[in-house]
Amino acid sequence: MTTTRFAPSPTGYIHVGNLRTALMNYLIARKAGGTFILRIDDTDPERSKEEYVDAIKQDLEWLGLHWDRVERQSERLDRYAAAADTLRDKGRFYEAFETPVELDLKRKKQLNMGKPPVYDRAALALSDEERAALRAERGQGVWRFKLDQARIEWTDGILGDISIDAASVSDPVLIRQDGQVLYTIASVVDDTEMGVTDVVRGSDHVTNTATQIQIIEALGGTAPRFAHHSLLTGPQGEALSKRLGTLALRDLRARGVAPMALLSLMARLGSSDPVELRTDMAELIEGFDISRFGAAPTKFDEADLFPLTGRYLQSLPLEAVAGRIADLGVPEGLAGPFWMVMRDNIETLHDLEGWWTLCRDGADPVIEDDDRAFVAEAMGLLPEGPFDAETWGAWTGAVKAATGRKGRGLFMPLRKALTGQAHGPDMAALMPLLQVVKAR
Ligand code: GLU
Repeated sequence: MTTTRFAPSPTGYIHVGNLRTALMNYLIARKAGGTFILRIDDTDPERSKEEYVDAIKQDLEWLGLHWDRVERQSERLDRYAAAADTLRDKGRFYEAFETPVELDLKRKKQLNMGKPPVYDRAALALSDEERAALRAERGQGVWRFKLDQARIEWTDGILGDISIDAASVSDPVLIRQDGQVLYTIASVVDDTEMGVTDVVRGSDHVTNTATQIQIIEALGGTAPRFAHHSLLTGPQGEALSKRLGTLALRDLRARGVAPMALLSLMARLGSSDPVELRTDMAELIEGFDISRFGAAPTKFDEADLFPLTGRYLQSLPLEAVAGRIADLGVPEGLAGPFWMVMRDNIETLHDLEGWWTLCRDGADPVIEDDDRAFVAEAMGLLPEGPFDAETWGAWTGAVKAATGRKGRGLFMPLRKALTGQAHGPDMAALMPLLQVVKAR
């Protein structure tokens, strides 16, 4: 039975970077008919905020990434304490008292000597008396997991065969001085006890994974399958980390990005399969294959979301947007024709507003100097409204006969006079929607 989880820390909003993690875990679970858990990693009481928990849920719901159940790490602290006891009993857990400043100094010395900055395990050599003295002087220490200094190997679902020398990694701190349990052990306990079979996360977690595999084994569990997706970069390959704040899902949503456009892009970006617009989740699930993803950094360009959203909107029937169109004030009788004409001319639903304003109030005409007399003459030939599907053809026919103009020289000045722009819907289809012509 396949079980996956998306495990955000509620310290901020979901952005395109962690969306990838959420989506891949979701798709794996759904494709296998398994379980998708939303796990809130809230062991840090200072940084975790309830408003972010709510926001994460709203964002996932907006996308249609429904979870089967929610787990919260803050409700499982007793489980982590029990696991810590097990590690202690097995001689895999030790208390260390170095201050951050001391650790920093050690690292600098090691680097100066050309050595990797790995914790030197000085605390392991402490006698009981020394330990008691340090505790009396400094209070509780941190608790570190004693790595077995062998190679840690796994076959990664994206990166392939991985081998990490545990001797090149510091024994991870699992419990802080103030007693706070850290993600590394909490996650392992949860993954094991919740039967998680597949963990997909960002490649910034690769070293974590190595240590977690040893912790899982020390606790008598079986490691899940791991896959680490590459980090997203901007379109030029630049780091995206600083900009992720502006790429929060709620911002993209406010800018009109359609969920299926965003999901379609993220389910394929960085894989050898082309990005294809999917209009429903079942197709997205069907077409997903994690083994197609590569290790190279993945370029993300938010601009790609808008044409994809536009294409998604083109596929929608009036019913899907009727409420939104009614909210604009489009009379019911015009809603159908309005949508049919405009859906091919928008990137987001926000664009409808401008088009409706144009239809309702008319546009400020744009008239080139050379065209003034021509447009004035044409306006004299424009019939009284309301216009219908024949109006454009009949009118331009009459203008052509009267002025001798044809082709672009005939049509473009009229389009610009009526709509104020050089591009837009087919004029024959637009005319019946035009309530006002300011150029008259
Ligand atoms: N809370 C961790 C994070 O957001 C979860 C990582 C994981 O998937 O194990 O980085």
